[in-house]
Amino acid sequence: MKKRIALLPGDGIGPEVMAGCQKVLEAIAERFNHEFLFEEGKIGGGAIDAEGTPLPEQTVALCEKSDAILLGAVGGPKWDDAPSHLRPEKGLLGIRKKMGLFANLRPVSTVKSLIPASPLKEEVVSNVDLLIVRELTGGIYFGQPSGREGDKVVDTLEYTKQEIERIVRKGFELASVRRGKLTSVDKANVLESSKVWRETVNRIAPEFPDVEVEHQLVDSAAMQLIRYPEQFDVIVTENLFGDILSDEASMLTGSLGMLPSASLRSDGFGMYEPVHGSAPDIAGKGIANPLAMIMSAAMMLRYTFNLFEEAQAIEVAVQHTLEEGYHTKDLVIENGQELGTEGIIEKVIEQI
Ligand code: ATP
Ligand code: MG
Repeated sequence: MKKRIALLPGDGIGPEVMAGCQKVLEAIAERFNHEFLFEEGKIGGGAIDAEGTPLPEQTVALCEKSDAILLGAVGGPKWDDAPSHLRPEKGLLGIRKKMGLFANLRPVSTVKSLIPASPLKEEVVSNVDLLIVRELTGGIYFGQPSGREGDKVVDTLEYTKQEIERIVRKGFELASVRRGKLTSVDKANVLESSKVWRETVNRIAPEFPDVEVEHQLVDSAAMQLIRYPEQFDVIVTENLFGDILSDEASMLTGSLGMLPSASLRSDGFGMYEPVHGSAPDIAGKGIANPLAMIMSAAMMLRYTFNLFEEAQAIEVAVQHTLEEGYHTKDLVIENGQELGTEGIIEKVIEQI
């Protein structure tokens, strides 16, 4: 299989973790006989410095001709006081919008050797394997009117039926290629948008007879995530609820340096990036954990290229590397051996 992959390393530790990720993908291409063509583009703070904009046109053009996008991280203290159109995050929001990426996927699964570092008890987190699917383009973050008038403040929660349907459909599709369970999270006892959300889920359900559907209210879901996270396979929810629940879920297992994410379009095209930020405090030191970036590449293979075996090869290689005790400074593994970014990459590639 021949694929064009746009690499947007970005700022801070972005370029360091991206370099390792590319090597891992090259190892996968070699083992499974694929051809991956990589091309780099600028985004975020680096793009502001070089081109005067966080999202240069060449970068958009590169993404448009590519089959998928890998993004490192954007931002850093250098640009903190920049005017709002010159903020690195604008590059990220801009590319999501340009490419029509409306579904944000955040998987969280147990890594055995990291269980002792979880804030929860071992019996609660020993078999977590869930995927949060969050709507990205609508809801209360974007609804109008929004603002202040006198002593009144307003935010508007707005969705079209089409926006609800496309994210719900994505949830079903993902559940059907995972363990076949979909938990739809809403606040249908109070919110009109949630009532339509729930109706939409129930209307689409018969099209996916192999998927078991369940509804949870968001307050209850927040509690269940901590009480019994193993019950979840795919959770689909709107923008605000998904924002909160995905950060909550990210603390169940492992560390920030381990968590991948994806932003997808209906046709499967996607941008893949680590959950962590640009980590300016450790940039350039060669100690950044590249595993979240690598796991993001595994998601790309699975969800955009349908290369399931190849995705699993990466995930297994990462799992084995940690089981053998190799880890970066940010992870705690008893009797383990601490390595730098490049050291970990070498171990993962040996496994592949
Ligand atoms: P952003 O606003 O860009 O999301 P943030 O303030 O949320 O950034 P991060 O950049 O994610 O923060 O970093 C939070 C902390 O976690 C920092 O101390 C950072 O060094 C550490 N960290 C984040 N990612 C990694 C990684 N891949 N490897 C090691 N440490 C990391
Ligand atoms: Mg952050």
